[in-house]
Amino acid sequence: MRTTAVFRHELFLEHDPGYGHVESPDRLRAIYQALDGAALRRHLLFPEFGPASEEVLALNHTPRHIFRVKATAGKPFEVLDPDTHTSARSYEAACLAAGAVVAAVEMVMRGGCDNAYALVRPPGHHAEADHTSGFCLFNNVAVAARYGLAHLGFKRILIVDWDIHHGNGTQHAFYDTDQVLYFSTHQYPFFPGSGSLTETGSGKGEGYTINVPLQGGQDDLAFARIFNELLVPVARQYRPECLLVSAGYDIYAGDPLGTMAVTPAGFGYLTRVLVELAEELCQGRLVLALEGGYAFDGLAGGVLASLAEMIGEGGLTTEQLAVFRHAAGPLRALAEAKTEAKKYWTTLS
Ligand SMILES: [Zn+2]
Repeated sequence: MRTTAVFRHELFLEHDPGYGHVESPDRLRAIYQALDGAALRRHLLFPEFGPASEEVLALNHTPRHIFRVKATAGKPFEVLDPDTHTSARSYEAACLAAGAVVAAVEMVMRGGCDNAYALVRPPGHHAEADHTSGFCLFNNVAVAARYGLAHLGFKRILIVDWDIHHGNGTQHAFYDTDQVLYFSTHQYPFFPGSGSLTETGSGKGEGYTINVPLQGGQDDLAFARIFNELLVPVARQYRPECLLVSAGYDIYAGDPLGTMAVTPAGFGYLTRVLVELAEELCQGRLVLALEGGYAFDGLAGGVLASLAEMIGEGGLTTEQLAVFRHAAGPLRALAEAKTEAKKYWTTLS
């Protein structure tokens, strides 16, 4: 059994984008409640952690952006962009969310736990260096990756983003570097509009962005195949020193914003692949950070399935595992993404 640290905090519930907003505190409340009632809770660590400082946020964000978000502090309701609203404590919550992912990466790096899950909000992967986007204030995962490169000695970080939306902010943050490989599966075309097959990076980063744009309706087996046949071989060639995951549960079959068809078993399998990859390639260093997911049962069930795999007590049967591992058949989006990635990754040839 592995030691998994969970980063949770009541302050994340204080970020309130306003009545009727889909990215509501109830999302995280549903996860925390499920976690409190789950038997696996006793196997988890719940470390203390603090907010990301302005200096750490500035590893990924402009001073102007940090200032704009900070200026919302104490104000009951501000609109930073049409989708992204704040309440009095949103700035504090956003700093703590970024701080949680940073602390998780640091803890995993220093061996305080085997792997970690930052159960945070506001989410992060749409936030650009200089502006908010899609419910995101600061890019939690990008800030943590920058921190890992700047302060923990990492030279190669793999970011996997399985949220239904493309992580435009994360892609752009590392578009021209080979120190971060960004791998995203997402519905396309869809919000935020980026994430086409031909967005592959630029300069030194050419080939280090891999997008797998998908039509709606993709199920557990489709995602399993994309991980098995594209992510795993590329990761083995890249040899990351740490895996970061933008874990979005809006690919869940019942999500009100999406049309994908992933079940908790699918989330379990995707997590299992990442746990195994991390153990094979980088001493198990794996950090998940919560992004989207708007069906409460999908969030609770999906996160628990991920955590169960992280501690090594996953609920997948041998038969289910065999089905996931050996899934086959035509999948055009995967074939196209492979053809594109082959230009850069010899392992696929
Ligand atoms: Zn999303």
